[in-house]
Amino acid sequence: MTQTLSARPLSTADSQKLGFSNLRCRECGAEYEPVAKHVCELCFGPLEVAYDYDWLKRTVTRQSIQQGPHSIWRYRPFLPVTSERPIDVGTGMTPLVKAERLGRRLGLKNLYIKNDAVNMPTLSFKDRVVSVALTRAKELGFTTVSCASTGNLANSTAAIAAHAGLECTIFIPADLEAGKVLGSLIYNPTVMAVEGNYDQVNRLCSEVADRYGWGFVNINLRPYYSEGSKTLAYEVAEQLGWQLPDQVVIPLASGSQYTKIYKGFQEFVKVGLVADKPVTFNGAQAEGCSPIAQAFREGRDFVTPVKPNTIAKSIAIGNPADGIYALDIARKTGGQIQAATDPEIVAGIKLLAETEGIFTETAGGTTIAVLKQLAESGQIDPEAVTVAYITGNGLKTQEAIQPHVGHPLLISPKIESFEQALERARTLERLDWQEVSV
Ligand SMILES: *Cc1c(COP(=O)(O)O)cnc(C)c1O
Ligand SMILES: [Zn+2]
Repeated sequence: MTQTLSARPLSTADSQKLGFSNLRCRECGAEYEPVAKHVCELCFGPLEVAYDYDWLKRTVTRQSIQQGPHSIWRYRPFLPVTSERPIDVGTGMTPLVKAERLGRRLGLKNLYIKNDAVNMPTLSFKDRVVSVALTRAKELGFTTVSCASTGNLANSTAAIAAHAGLECTIFIPADLEAGKVLGSLIYNPTVMAVEGNYDQVNRLCSEVADRYGWGFVNINLRPYYSEGSKTLAYEVAEQLGWQLPDQVVIPLASGSQYTKIYKGFQEFVKVGLVADKPVTFNGAQAEGCSPIAQAFREGRDFVTPVKPNTIAKSIAIGNPADGIYALDIARKTGGQIQAATDPEIVAGIKLLAETEGIFTETAGGTTIAVLKQLAESGQIDPEAVTVAYITGNGLKTQEAIQPHVGHPLLISPKIESFEQALERARTLERLDWQEVSV
């Protein structure tokens, strides 16, 4: 296994140089070689990728980004890879949709949806983090990759490993939605369905990582993996015409994505690609697994682990690794971290579908439910530019929504049958309407 940095130069004036340098401990600042390592030996703090921002400032321009590929790799200098040819399966550059109809319903004048329900190749934001992690895994010489997953990460890892020709074993809780299990099996990895919740799966995987030397995207490769989420900040800034939004709403599982979107905005300011401006960071959790929202509500700066019980399985992490950092960001930006009940999550999925034509999974329903709470309680500014992050696709969590979408009208292939059914449908609609209007 080769664990050295490739010395291949970038095709820029500053050849031999890269945007990223070392891994640095978030707590004590100790630095390490950029290998597969995620915990500081001195203080057990999490390791993060460090960059040379002076070099980035000199090298990267709006134009150089715009001339790059139509994928996350247009931001390659801000990502922790050395390859000139990273694994590019078209991940990223998902639509930023101006949500006029949803905005009107919620009383928000400048609402946008960042739609990662259509991210490539597996229809969730996890394709971003996995594209980066597996590119780095190859650079570090791994031939087998793996992950502990609540579903979407498994789908991304299996698909992108297949594309890259890497061996793949994934670990999921045994009670996942059928769409998420099938969405991994189709790529033919080894799938371990563990009888336990995500936090137990994750603990098992830490042991496997130590014993087998595999590249676990969210464990020993975590510093690289998590950087992929920064592209959700870069894209929004670019799509808004090189400006930061005023406020964002982001779903929280481990809290990684939330903290990295914050880092992404800060980096763009630091290197002069956008003007500085305060961005309010709001977070969304499912009530049935809301350790970060509970800590926020109670004014604590530590997170007490919980046992998940919610339909929002993709964000059901009871012991969130980045919870304390998320709390810090919410507080210092004046944001909120709130929780939505399962019925509110279902209502959020339906509201987004009916107003914007976007079918999201339970995590996206959580974002919309919390956005609605914030709008109705006046905790977000109705005039300001607001971005709600929709991170996954509704076709993967059909169980959650099936009982709430009604049925098609079964008719015979005759005009009379159609007209009878139409009459019935109109009567039902009138009844529905009378019920809500009394
Ligand atoms: C994993 C996931 C999240 C949250 O991820 P963290 O970075 O762990 O907070 C949000 N939405 C979806 C759909 C996910 O799969
Ligand atoms: Zn440390």
